[in-house]
Amino acid sequence: MKIIKTLATVLAVGAMALTASTAVFAQDKGAIGIAMPTQSSLRWISDGNELKAALEAKGYSVDLQYAEDDIPNQLAQIENMVTKGVKALVIASIDGTTLSSVLQQAADGGIKVIAYDRLIRDSGNVDFYTTFDNFEVGVLQASSILKGLGYPEKTGPWNVELFGGSPDDNNAFFFYDGAMSVFQPLIDDGTLVVKSGQTGMETVGTLRWDGAVAQARMDNLLSAHYSDGSRVDAVLSPYDGLSRGIISSLRGVGYGAADQPWPIISGQDAELPSVKAIIAGEQYSTVFKDTRELANITAELVDTVISGGAPAGLDTTTYDNGVKVVPSILLTPYEVDASNYEARVIDSGYIKAEELQ
Ligand code: BGC
Repeated sequence: MKIIKTLATVLAVGAMALTASTAVFAQDKGAIGIAMPTQSSLRWISDGNELKAALEAKGYSVDLQYAEDDIPNQLAQIENMVTKGVKALVIASIDGTTLSSVLQQAADGGIKVIAYDRLIRDSGNVDFYTTFDNFEVGVLQASSILKGLGYPEKTGPWNVELFGGSPDDNNAFFFYDGAMSVFQPLIDDGTLVVKSGQTGMETVGTLRWDGAVAQARMDNLLSAHYSDGSRVDAVLSPYDGLSRGIISSLRGVGYGAADQPWPIISGQDAELPSVKAIIAGEQYSTVFKDTRELANITAELVDTVISGGAPAGLDTTTYDNGVKVVPSILLTPYEVDASNYEARVIDSGYIKAEELQ
């Protein structure tokens, strides 16, 4: 009797499982390909995970790939997604100019293409772009440095050195231009002095956003322009990973001591080690971009577009990719420093308080 009852239970559970899997299958709205640049930065790992979860919750299956900053690798991953017949591609490109031919194949196959955070350039086959207000990121970085220096109560002059992001990433130019919109008038009137004389993205750009490259350049700047006993008062850094390299370089020549305090250094992404560096007083600030929000609005956009709907609230003027103005959704970035990190990144749940221990 007991055996029969157990068997009946097994059958019932089996039937339920069958119903459940049928239900999942019926809900499958198709596959979405997500191409992310690298896992070497925490933000892209979080972007990938959030986006995958948001799309799966809407009933899509997801192919999530990271290319470890290798351009041919990313191209091969996207080609593979196109061959597999995904319904949409969400791409955070490594080099925003190298994808034209695979995007033509995607368009020919009716696949929707969303540029994620980084604009894909030189292709008419980019349907939408989801990102943050990237010019504003640069404005926040430069304004934060001025705040850290004590401007306008104090008036300088201050020595500042400038770093840019990767020249193959369209965002890097927006960050730099935003920052220079704040700095240039103060460079012109002598409040800020770029002692090395190195300005302009072609000179200060950092290929692949590589912290080691930034560290090496800071080493060179220090030995070539600051061996005379003069001080670096501030460093414009567009990304936390570069800031960490810059901090290592400065530490190597004695900054961070009582008689040689840290320069005011900016950053971006509110990465955990950099928020710790802000609390420790090594880095002055970062720019917080809530990548959970970006992932969620991107998943919404994908779903709307695939369902044949018309997305609302698009910016149709800012992002010209060289072939067309790509309709964009621009989220708001926030400056974060030691005075407000709790409210911005802890209370919002982006970083847990215990992770900072
Ligand atoms: C992103 C930044 C990031 C940088 C380096 C840019 O495209 O917008 O958030 O710091 O890439 O990964």
